[in-house]
Amino acid sequence: MSVYVVGHKNPDTDSVTSAIVYAELKKATGTDAVAVMQGGLNPETELVLDKFGFAVPEIMTDAAGKQVILVDHSDIAQAPDNLDKGEVVEIIDHHKIGDVTTNNPIFFCAQPVGCTGTVLKQLFEINKVAVSEKVAGLMLCAILSDTVMFKSPTTTEADKTACEDLAKIAGISDMESLALEMFRAKSAVDGVDPKDLIFRDYKDFDMKGNKVGCGQLELVDLSLVAGIRDDLFNAMKEVKEEGGRHTVLLMLTDIMKEGTDLMVVSDDASYVEKAYGVKLDAPSVWVDGMMSRKKQTIPPLQEAFGC
Ligand code: MG
Ligand code: MG
Ligand code: MG
Repeated sequence: MSVYVVGHKNPDTDSVTSAIVYAELKKATGTDAVAVMQGGLNPETELVLDKFGFAVPEIMTDAAGKQVILVDHSDIAQAPDNLDKGEVVEIIDHHKIGDVTTNNPIFFCAQPVGCTGTVLKQLFEINKVAVSEKVAGLMLCAILSDTVMFKSPTTTEADKTACEDLAKIAGISDMESLALEMFRAKSAVDGVDPKDLIFRDYKDFDMKGNKVGCGQLELVDLSLVAGIRDDLFNAMKEVKEEGGRHTVLLMLTDIMKEGTDLMVVSDDASYVEKAYGVKLDAPSVWVDGMMSRKKQTIPPLQEAFGC
């Protein structure tokens, strides 16, 4: 029976590439592993897979009856459906430990680094498996993506060192131009349904019984969304109503200016105001320096909710 390696819902580049890369490592060490993903590729991931010649993984959204390895998450809400009717056999991650539990001891490897790719790079070393040129390219792109080319406060020395090593193996001499190429692809919003943009990189959280959703668009320039702000705001209202959510946030992150224009739809915006020390008298508010959802956006809000 194959083991399925899967990243979180609304997959980003790290979730997709980590599934592919870890499946490669499992195969190299004698386990029949298949990389899958829970949703379609974003334009950045599409570029990355194409660049290094990897096939697009199959979609798998239901874990019933399957053995699964979770990468880039350990939250039930972000995992495939019916996880309790399947079996989690490993977890490789770089987020806070979530709420997935198991009946048996498993290999659980989480580190406070900027990317699952950085953890995987070390697992190749531990298992004494050589990283191929193509696989190095994937891990490099994942780290550049997750750390926003080392600008995100989630970045660690381990991420930078891993990138230097991986760039050498992949034969990439100019990391910066590779990252910019990815960010330009990631910034593509033209002709995309506003709701799809909200869900492109989106996570739901439970905050003291309140459902709070947070999407993020990482953009090379906020002018890219100037013409669709009203549409985004209306789509956020729909997302809030449809999902019975207390709050929906959309981070319009300016990668170059290193900050976020935070769009907010909420039953009670005072939580948001308290969390970030801002006054919300418009649909959005600029939060200087805000780059990371997991490190800068979610924890203060959880605290404001009293989690
Ligand atoms: Mg991710
Ligand atoms: Mg990640
Ligand atoms: Mg991200």
